[in-house]
Amino acid sequence: MVNTDYDVIVIGSGIGGLSSASAMANKGYKVLVCEAGGRIGGYCQSFERKGFRFNSSIHKIGGPFPRYLTEQFLSLMGESNQLEWTEFEEYVQVGNIKVNAGSKAMKEDLKKHFPHESTQLDTFFFDIQLAFKELIYLEKNRNNITAFNSAAMKLLMQYQVITIEQLLHKYFQDEHLRGILYALCDGTPGQSAIVLVVFLNLLIGNSVLPVGGAESILNIMLKVVERAGGNLLLNSRVNRILVEEGRVVGVEVDGKQIFSRFVVSNADIYTTYEKLIGQEHISPRFLHKLQKVWQSSSSCFSVWLGLDCPIQNLGWNGQNMSYYQKYDRLFEMKKDLLTPGGKLPSDTYCWIGTSANLDPTSSPNGYSQVSLGIPISYQFENNWGIENGRRGTEYRKTKKRLAEQLIDSVEHILPGLKNHIIVTTIASPHTFERYSLNTGGAYLGFAFNPSYLQDRMRPESKGLLQGLYLSSNWSSMGGGFIKVMMEALRGADLMLMEDKRTDFYDFQNQYFFEQMSKV
Ligand SMILES: Cc1cc2nc3c(=O)[nH]c(=O)nc-3n(C[C@H](O)[C@H](O)[C@H](O)COP(=O)(O)OP(=O)(O)OC[C@H]3O[C@@H](n4cnc5c(N)ncnc54)[C@H](O)[C@@H]3O)c2cc1C
Repeated sequence: MVNTDYDVIVIGSGIGGLSSASAMANKGYKVLVCEAGGRIGGYCQSFERKGFRFNSSIHKIGGPFPRYLTEQFLSLMGESNQLEWTEFEEYVQVGNIKVNAGSKAMKEDLKKHFPHESTQLDTFFFDIQLAFKELIYLEKNRNNITAFNSAAMKLLMQYQVITIEQLLHKYFQDEHLRGILYALCDGTPGQSAIVLVVFLNLLIGNSVLPVGGAESILNIMLKVVERAGGNLLLNSRVNRILVEEGRVVGVEVDGKQIFSRFVVSNADIYTTYEKLIGQEHISPRFLHKLQKVWQSSSSCFSVWLGLDCPIQNLGWNGQNMSYYQKYDRLFEMKKDLLTPGGKLPSDTYCWIGTSANLDPTSSPNGYSQVSLGIPISYQFENNWGIENGRRGTEYRKTKKRLAEQLIDSVEHILPGLKNHIIVTTIASPHTFERYSLNTGGAYLGFAFNPSYLQDRMRPESKGLLQGLYLSSNWSSMGGGFIKVMMEALRGADLMLMEDKRTDFYDFQNQYFFEQMSKV
């Protein structure tokens, strides 16, 4: 093999890229991070407009123990107590019923609203907890799939092959309750019932975000890389992963070949395998699954609003909410949003974020901000008004019209909002695609459909070629900040193992599972 310039080259500086880079640098590896954009972070980036700093995608770090896990990660990298945190509540409102989505009292809340489904709620929560424990067991013992509880395993097998909608129908008569549970797990049509099992079990606390947004965590990770002698190249798009005799040996970037023992791709999976590696190195069976069987998650439409008053003037105090106007068309309404060529329904769902206001650095004094978002198809309406690949006047008009409709849809829950808007910024799936380079602006890697979930070939940290690792949404089932960060450490452990080292992070076991076992 040729002499190497680096031990590890990481393609992309999203949370997956920088988690891997810092984890390897921290173990003494010489790391190079190549980032196509002019700024680190991918979806973790913030951006500035007229004195406001908006979080581009990550509005919250959620799930169980989000702050604890992030701090443990940084502490393992030798960077403790660097961050100031904000913590906030998240709600789901369907019609007039509002439920705290991070509360242990959620089940009791639901029972109060739906006393006639009380027994079924007990059975449902008992079953999904049992299935979840089994799932954790399987995740913990990836190489040993002997079930420790056959009843739980049976449930899990059932849930794997049905969708969320089918699961809810199995347990509940009341469609309003079905709607709320669907909303609580942020479901999208056709998703596996496992999503609901996981989400509802993970809703056990508030969400958090550090002051400065998720990007401030990535800045610390970058510091770890640079402190260990590693480098970052911005505006450096990798256009080839070099392969020799079935092993990756480096990358081609900025017209140069740079060699390394390991390559970690944080880039979109289609780009990684079809363009950077080349189809000739990938088995036809895997390519078929990638191109025809697994589907990517949807993208998003987001609107960021700068307001000329404190958020309290609108009766809000830094919480977030998923707001569904009606329960009876909930599944259909989400389908409308995700259908190519679809139109924004008048009863559209909307995610409303005001938690950024707890961060004093996000808006000028006396001002505040609100963000609105919906999952949406990449080819919505008339392909967003894009003509011959050009984002011209029609594209801008389409975005503006949809933003106005979205603002209208939340007016009665944020009364007076329209009168206070002084800054409006809008992102379509094409915007998300442009700055993250994720195909179709996919926001969580692969869609969580039964066909993907049951597939043993689905991508994980270890890539298809020797020396290749993946660290992104696409290799971390379900995506999201914490999942991608934890999976990156699994990948780091596999690289250490390849080098016959034993000083593993073992992060999931040591921190995540250890905390979960106390719940
Ligand atoms: C609108 C929206 C809202 C979201 N909200 C949340 C939330 O509140 N909480 C949460 O936990 N998750 C949220 N997510 C999901 C979360 O953002 C992702 O799961 C996570 O950030 C994905 O990170 P990643 O490491 O896979 O990389 P990405 O963020 O996708 O970054 C990939 C990086 O690789 C670079 N790259 C790609 N190709 C190349 C190449 N060839 N050469 C060099 N560089 C390359 C890109 O420029 C980019 O910087 C949201 C996503 C979206 C879109």
